[in-house]
Amino acid sequence: MLRKTLAFLLVGLFAAVHGGADDGQFARLREEMVRRQLEGRDITDPVVLDAMQSVPRHEFVRPQNRAQAYQDSPIPIGHGQTISQPYIVALMTQLIEPRPGMRALEIGTGSGYQAAVLAEILDEVYTIEIVEPLAEWGEANLRRSGYGHVNVKHADGYYGWEEHAPFDAIVVTAAAGSIPPPLIDQLADGGVMVIPVGSPFRTQMLTLVRRDGERVTTESLLPVRFVPFVRASD
Ligand code: SAH
Repeated sequence: MLRKTLAFLLVGLFAAVHGGADDGQFARLREEMVRRQLEGRDITDPVVLDAMQSVPRHEFVRPQNRAQAYQDSPIPIGHGQTISQPYIVALMTQLIEPRPGMRALEIGTGSGYQAAVLAEILDEVYTIEIVEPLAEWGEANLRRSGYGHVNVKHADGYYGWEEHAPFDAIVVTAAAGSIPPPLIDQLADGGVMVIPVGSPFRTQMLTLVRRDGERVTTESLLPVRFVPFVRASD
Protein backbone atom coordinates (compact mmCIF):
# COMPACT_ATOMS: atom_id res chain seq x y z
CA MET A 1 0.00 0.00 0.00
CA LEU A 2 2.76 2.38 1.05
CA ARG A 3 4.80 1.39 -1.99
CA LYS A 4 1.85 1.98 -4.27
CA THR A 5 1.22 5.38 -2.74
CA LEU A 6 4.85 6.37 -3.11
CA ALA A 7 5.03 5.25 -6.72
CA PHE A 8 1.89 7.16 -7.44
CA LEU A 9 3.25 10.31 -5.77
CA LEU A 10 6.49 10.04 -7.71
CA VAL A 11 4.69 9.69 -11.02
CA GLY A 12 2.59 12.73 -10.18
CA LEU A 13 5.62 14.76 -9.17
CA PHE A 14 7.60 13.71 -12.23
CA ALA A 15 4.77 14.78 -14.48
CA ALA A 16 4.37 18.06 -12.62
CA VAL A 17 8.09 18.86 -12.80
CA HIS A 18 8.23 18.11 -16.48
CA GLY A 19 5.32 20.32 -17.30
CA GLY A 20 3.10 17.48 -18.42
CA ALA A 21 0.89 17.48 -15.35
CA ASP A 22 -2.77 17.63 -16.16
CA ASP A 23 -5.68 18.38 -13.90
CA GLY A 24 -6.16 14.68 -13.20
CA GLN A 25 -2.63 14.32 -11.89
CA PHE A 26 -2.98 17.39 -9.72
CA ALA A 27 -6.28 16.04 -8.41
CA ARG A 28 -4.52 12.83 -7.39
CA LEU A 29 -1.74 14.73 -5.64
CA ARG A 30 -4.46 16.68 -3.88
CA GLU A 31 -6.21 13.49 -2.73
CA GLU A 32 -2.92 12.33 -1.31
CA MET A 33 -2.45 15.70 0.44
CA VAL A 34 -5.93 15.48 2.00
CA ARG A 35 -5.44 11.90 3.16
CA ARG A 36 -1.95 12.20 4.61
CA GLN A 37 -1.52 15.78 5.71
CA LEU A 38 -5.08 16.53 6.84
CA GLU A 39 -7.02 13.35 7.69
CA GLY A 40 -3.75 11.88 8.95
CA ARG A 41 -3.64 14.70 11.49
CA ASP A 42 -6.68 16.28 13.13
CA ILE A 43 -8.72 17.71 10.28
CA THR A 44 -12.09 15.99 10.61
CA ASP A 45 -14.71 18.49 9.41
CA PRO A 46 -16.06 17.03 6.13
CA VAL A 47 -16.80 20.46 4.63
CA VAL A 48 -13.18 21.49 5.20
CA LEU A 49 -11.82 18.25 3.72
CA ASP A 50 -14.10 18.68 0.67
CA ALA A 51 -12.98 22.27 0.17
CA MET A 52 -9.30 21.29 0.41
CA GLN A 53 -9.97 18.56 -2.16
CA SER A 54 -11.67 21.02 -4.50
CA VAL A 55 -9.41 24.07 -4.59
CA PRO A 56 -6.62 23.75 -7.22
CA ARG A 57 -3.70 24.81 -4.99
CA HIS A 58 -1.30 24.62 -7.98
CA GLU A 59 -3.16 27.60 -9.47
CA PHE A 60 -2.17 29.69 -6.43
CA VAL A 61 1.61 29.32 -6.63
CA ARG A 62 4.05 30.75 -9.16
CA PRO A 63 4.53 28.61 -12.29
CA GLN A 64 8.01 27.54 -11.18
CA ASN A 65 6.59 26.17 -7.92
CA ARG A 66 3.66 24.19 -9.32
CA ALA A 67 5.37 20.86 -8.78
CA GLN A 68 5.65 21.60 -5.04
CA ALA A 69 2.09 22.87 -4.68
CA TYR A 70 0.85 19.82 -2.73
CA GLN A 71 3.85 19.41 -0.46
CA ASP A 72 3.53 19.57 3.32
CA SER A 73 5.15 23.03 3.57
CA PRO A 74 4.69 26.74 2.93
CA ILE A 75 5.92 28.02 -0.49
CA PRO A 76 7.36 31.45 -1.35
CA ILE A 77 5.03 33.63 -3.45
CA GLY A 78 7.36 36.62 -3.91
CA HIS A 79 7.57 39.93 -2.02
CA GLY A 80 8.99 38.03 0.97
CA GLN A 81 5.64 36.28 1.54
CA THR A 82 4.49 32.66 1.52
CA ILE A 83 1.36 30.63 0.87
CA SER A 84 0.73 28.71 4.11
CA GLN A 85 1.21 24.96 4.47
CA PRO A 86 -2.01 23.08 3.48
CA TYR A 87 -2.49 21.78 7.05
CA ILE A 88 -2.42 25.29 8.52
CA VAL A 89 -4.98 26.53 5.97
CA ALA A 90 -7.25 23.57 6.77
CA LEU A 91 -6.79 24.02 10.53
CA MET A 92 -7.61 27.73 10.48
CA THR A 93 -10.65 26.99 8.33
CA GLN A 94 -11.81 24.19 10.64
CA LEU A 95 -11.39 26.43 13.71
CA ILE A 96 -13.96 28.95 12.50
CA GLU A 97 -16.52 26.13 12.07
CA PRO A 98 -17.38 27.28 8.54
CA ARG A 99 -20.91 26.89 7.22
CA PRO A 100 -22.77 28.29 4.21
CA GLY A 101 -24.48 31.55 5.04
CA MET A 102 -21.52 32.86 7.04
CA ARG A 103 -19.64 36.03 6.11
CA ALA A 104 -15.88 35.98 6.61
CA LEU A 105 -13.01 38.45 6.43
CA GLU A 106 -9.45 37.34 5.75
CA ILE A 107 -6.45 39.58 6.43
CA GLY A 108 -3.49 38.78 4.16
CA THR A 109 -4.79 37.68 0.72
CA GLY A 110 -1.34 36.66 -0.55
CA SER A 111 -1.95 34.05 -3.26
CA GLY A 112 -5.71 33.99 -2.64
CA TYR A 113 -5.60 30.30 -1.64
CA GLN A 114 -7.01 30.61 1.89
CA ALA A 115 -9.74 32.89 0.53
CA ALA A 116 -10.60 30.26 -2.12
CA VAL A 117 -10.89 27.54 0.54
CA LEU A 118 -13.22 29.79 2.55
CA ALA A 119 -15.21 30.64 -0.60
CA GLU A 120 -15.76 26.93 -1.31
CA ILE A 121 -17.80 26.77 1.89
CA LEU A 122 -19.06 30.25 2.80
CA ASP A 123 -21.37 32.57 0.91
CA GLU A 124 -19.47 35.81 1.45
CA VAL A 125 -15.71 36.21 1.63
CA TYR A 126 -13.79 39.50 1.92
CA THR A 127 -10.01 39.63 1.90
CA ILE A 128 -7.49 42.44 2.37
CA GLU A 129 -3.85 42.54 1.25
CA ILE A 130 -1.34 45.28 2.05
CA VAL A 131 1.15 44.55 -0.78
CA GLU A 132 -0.45 45.90 -3.96
CA PRO A 133 1.06 43.48 -6.51
CA LEU A 134 0.00 40.56 -4.29
CA ALA A 135 -3.54 41.94 -4.00
CA GLU A 136 -3.66 42.02 -7.81
CA TRP A 137 -2.10 38.58 -8.24
CA GLY A 138 -4.28 37.00 -5.54
CA GLU A 139 -7.39 38.48 -7.14
CA ALA A 140 -6.33 37.22 -10.59
CA ASN A 141 -5.73 33.71 -9.18
CA LEU A 142 -9.15 33.74 -7.55
CA ARG A 143 -10.92 34.86 -10.75
CA ARG A 144 -9.10 32.38 -12.96
CA SER A 145 -10.07 29.52 -10.65
CA GLY A 146 -13.74 30.46 -10.46
CA TYR A 147 -13.76 32.40 -7.18
CA GLY A 148 -14.55 35.77 -8.75
CA HIS A 149 -17.17 36.39 -6.04
CA VAL A 150 -14.45 36.87 -3.40
CA ASN A 151 -14.02 40.58 -2.66
CA VAL A 152 -10.38 41.68 -2.61
CA LYS A 153 -9.12 45.03 -1.32
CA HIS A 154 -5.63 46.53 -1.26
CA ALA A 155 -5.33 48.15 2.19
CA ASP A 156 -3.91 47.78 5.70
CA GLY A 157 -6.00 45.00 7.21
CA TYR A 158 -5.48 46.42 10.71
CA TYR A 159 -8.64 48.47 10.17
CA GLY A 160 -10.75 45.58 8.88
CA TRP A 161 -13.47 46.29 6.33
CA GLU A 162 -16.01 48.44 8.13
CA GLU A 163 -18.64 48.65 5.32
CA HIS A 164 -19.14 44.89 5.34
CA ALA A 165 -18.91 44.28 9.09
CA PRO A 166 -19.93 42.49 11.23
CA PHE A 167 -18.20 39.26 10.26
CA ASP A 168 -19.09 35.81 11.57
CA ALA A 169 -15.44 34.86 11.18
CA ILE A 170 -12.13 36.66 10.74
CA VAL A 171 -9.02 34.76 9.64
CA VAL A 172 -5.72 36.61 10.00
CA THR A 173 -2.86 34.99 8.06
CA ALA A 174 0.01 37.20 9.25
CA ALA A 175 1.49 37.31 12.77
CA ALA A 176 0.47 40.30 14.87
CA GLY A 177 2.08 41.43 18.15
CA SER A 178 -1.42 41.92 19.53
CA ILE A 179 -4.97 41.57 18.29
CA PRO A 180 -6.01 44.71 16.34
CA PRO A 181 -8.96 46.27 18.23
CA PRO A 182 -10.83 47.22 15.00
CA LEU A 183 -10.98 43.53 14.11
CA ILE A 184 -12.54 42.67 17.47
CA ASP A 185 -15.07 45.47 16.93
CA GLN A 186 -15.99 44.00 13.54
CA LEU A 187 -16.70 40.51 14.89
CA ALA A 188 -20.39 39.64 14.98
CA ASP A 189 -22.01 38.53 18.22
CA GLY A 190 -21.08 34.84 18.43
CA GLY A 191 -18.29 35.42 15.90
CA VAL A 192 -14.80 33.91 15.99
CA MET A 193 -11.39 35.09 14.89
CA VAL A 194 -8.30 32.98 14.37
CA ILE A 195 -5.03 34.89 14.48
CA PRO A 196 -1.34 34.10 15.10
CA VAL A 197 -0.24 36.33 17.98
CA GLY A 198 3.36 36.99 18.97
CA SER A 199 6.71 38.32 17.86
CA PRO A 200 7.31 38.09 14.11
CA PHE A 201 10.82 36.80 14.76
CA ARG A 202 9.82 33.78 16.85
CA THR A 203 7.05 31.25 16.84
CA GLN A 204 3.67 32.70 17.58
CA MET A 205 0.57 31.23 19.22
CA LEU A 206 -2.38 30.51 17.01
CA THR A 207 -5.14 32.19 18.99
CA LEU A 208 -8.90 31.75 18.86
CA VAL A 209 -10.91 34.82 19.81
CA ARG A 210 -14.64 34.53 20.52
CA ARG A 211 -17.10 37.32 20.94
CA ASP A 212 -20.30 36.85 22.92
CA GLY A 213 -22.05 40.18 23.27
CA GLU A 214 -19.56 42.45 25.01
CA ARG A 215 -17.58 39.49 26.31
CA VAL A 216 -14.41 38.62 24.36
CA THR A 217 -12.43 35.51 25.25
CA THR A 218 -9.13 34.29 23.83
CA GLU A 219 -7.66 30.82 23.77
CA SER A 220 -4.06 30.00 22.78
CA LEU A 221 -4.01 26.85 20.70
CA LEU A 222 -0.63 25.92 19.24
CA PRO A 223 2.71 27.39 18.22
CA VAL A 224 2.91 28.46 14.57
CA ARG A 225 5.20 30.52 12.36
CA PHE A 226 3.73 33.18 10.08
CA VAL A 227 5.11 36.12 8.13
CA PRO A 228 4.74 39.43 10.00
CA PHE A 229 1.60 41.53 10.07
CA VAL A 230 2.89 44.85 8.80
CA ARG A 231 1.34 48.29 9.09
CA ALA A 232 0.90 50.83 6.31
CA SER A 233 3.27 53.14 8.20
CA ASP A 234 6.10 50.53 8.45
N1 SAH B 1 -3.50 33.81 3.09
C1 SAH B 1 -2.37 33.83 2.20
C2 SAH B 1 -1.08 33.79 2.98
C3 SAH B 1 -0.27 34.97 2.66
S1 SAH B 1 1.07 35.33 3.75
C4 SAH B 1 -2.45 32.71 1.17
O1 SAH B 1 -3.34 31.85 1.28
O2 SAH B 1 -1.63 32.69 0.25
C5 SAH B 1 0.40 36.71 4.64
C6 SAH B 1 0.02 37.90 3.82
O3 SAH B 1 -0.38 38.92 4.73
C7 SAH B 1 1.15 38.51 2.98
O4 SAH B 1 0.76 38.52 1.64
C8 SAH B 1 1.31 39.91 3.56
O5 SAH B 1 1.65 40.87 2.58
C9 SAH B 1 -0.07 40.16 4.15
N2 SAH B 1 -0.13 41.19 5.20
C10 SAH B 1 0.77 41.47 6.17
N3 SAH B 1 0.33 42.49 6.94
C11 SAH B 1 -0.87 42.88 6.42
C12 SAH B 1 -1.81 43.89 6.78
N4 SAH B 1 -1.60 44.75 7.79
N5 SAH B 1 -2.95 44.00 6.05
C13 SAH B 1 -3.18 43.17 5.00
N6 SAH B 1 -2.32 42.19 4.61
C14 SAH B 1 -1.18 42.04 5.32
